[in-house]
Amino acid sequence: MRRQTKIVATMGPAVASLGQVAELIHAGLDVARLNFSHGGHDTHRQFAGWVREAASDAGANVALLQDIQGPKLRLGILHDGKVQLDRGEQVDLVPGAKSGDRSNIPVDYEHLLEDVAPGGSVLVADGLVRLEVAERLEDRLRCVVVAGGELADHKGVAFPGSSLRVPPLTDKDAADIAFGRELGVDYVAMSFVRSSEDIRQVAALVEPGTPIIAKVELAAAYENLDDIMAAADGVMVARGDLGVELPLERIPLVQADILERANAAGLLTITATEMLQSMVEAPRPTRAEVTDVATAVTEGTDAVMLSGETAVGKYPVEAVRMMDTICREVETGLRPQRRSAHLTLSSVPTFASAIAKAAVEAAVDLDLSTIVAFTETGSTARLLSKYRPASDIVAFTAREATLRRMALYWGVRAVPFERRAYTDLEIAAAEKYLEKERLCTRGEGVVMVAGIPANRQASTNLMKLHVIGDRDRGVPSQRDGRSAGGLSGPV
Ligand code: PGA
Ligand code: MN
Repeated sequence: MRRQTKIVATMGPAVASLGQVAELIHAGLDVARLNFSHGGHDTHRQFAGWVREAASDAGANVALLQDIQGPKLRLGILHDGKVQLDRGEQVDLVPGAKSGDRSNIPVDYEHLLEDVAPGGSVLVADGLVRLEVAERLEDRLRCVVVAGGELADHKGVAFPGSSLRVPPLTDKDAADIAFGRELGVDYVAMSFVRSSEDIRQVAALVEPGTPIIAKVELAAAYENLDDIMAAADGVMVARGDLGVELPLERIPLVQADILERANAAGLLTITATEMLQSMVEAPRPTRAEVTDVATAVTEGTDAVMLSGETAVGKYPVEAVRMMDTICREVETGLRPQRRSAHLTLSSVPTFASAIAKAAVEAAVDLDLSTIVAFTETGSTARLLSKYRPASDIVAFTAREATLRRMALYWGVRAVPFERRAYTDLEIAAAEKYLEKERLCTRGEGVVMVAGIPANRQASTNLMKLHVIGDRDRGVPSQRDGRSAGGLSGPV
């Protein structure tokens, strides 16, 4: 069985060679994440090159996702690099990025004194260290340590509950987005989004048409989810920072809610952070981590993501392989239910969405194993995918950018395709490919979704029930086997 849930993995020093990137792809990597919170442009350029080269060598379809750092507040520089804080201790926060010591901890936020009031909480280093503001003095915030721990230079700092004046995009973000255009990234993910306006600012800078993933990692972002979803193409459940902003015990239901609403709105969904965290150090994950990946799959995420596990971990390839194994196993268990699942996608009705729904229903009713789509922008394939059919979705496209973007779509196998003048010719070519790749066998029924006239954007208006290679239109039979297949040039 083909895996339906896609795998995103973060590039980093642990996989910094063409050979290691190739191994990740072999293990199941679908989307390579370039994390612009770390590493310079040269490093990212090198990874982008390796990903493109290794994917091409393997005949695999792999997308590049550029993850923009966003306006995350950080500590400045500490005199000794590190400071140990103990519970009950008193410390002062001072605005500015300059260096300070344990009694003058610098915070790189100029409005610190105006925007954070006594009683407010301060979380440093992903919430490991917690302070409470006791008093506002002329040039500093006097705080009490609520939970102790170690602080280091440039650690992230959050002020949950305070409303801050941070720009949606920093100068670094704008420069990174321009660099991403140069690299030809397939997706841009934006960190610390608060509203649809933030997304619009990013959209104005990216290569036109590049889908934008909103990372939901602020409490305010979760509160504004509907507004953000109206402007974004996808959302990431960014549990790392979200777990700092919200009480940890809220994360499971918040995750389920975000996935449900984003899927129902037809958006792409990625579930991220600490999914197999212990594999940074160990060759096997914990039972709890395996269950966490399984839960995200059950909840219908398009993709599960690895961060430190592949970027800096000791077992990057094993982590991807483990994720692949978990997804396959859970999906095998879920497939029978999908055959009778109710369709719930609540998108604005269009020809494309009505056809996608009808196609998935036909596949369920007739027990068809394959749904075929011809797509220009990928939106038809995305709609089909969002109904989460048990059938495989094989999406043919002549556009390279569309092809790569579909690497993130749940259950979609993307195939490069040469345009034909007529829809009939495209169907004939697709049919030949399905047989040749042993995705379908002669006599098997498939449902096809296309547009007439062919090759026009937003023209999806045709659903065809088709029997593979059977001119007499005999009774469809079930296919018996299929190859793993690969991409070797357009069909
Ligand atoms: P990050 O985002 O890895 O860039 O912090 C994901 C998260 O916060 O979960
Ligand atoms: Mn984050």
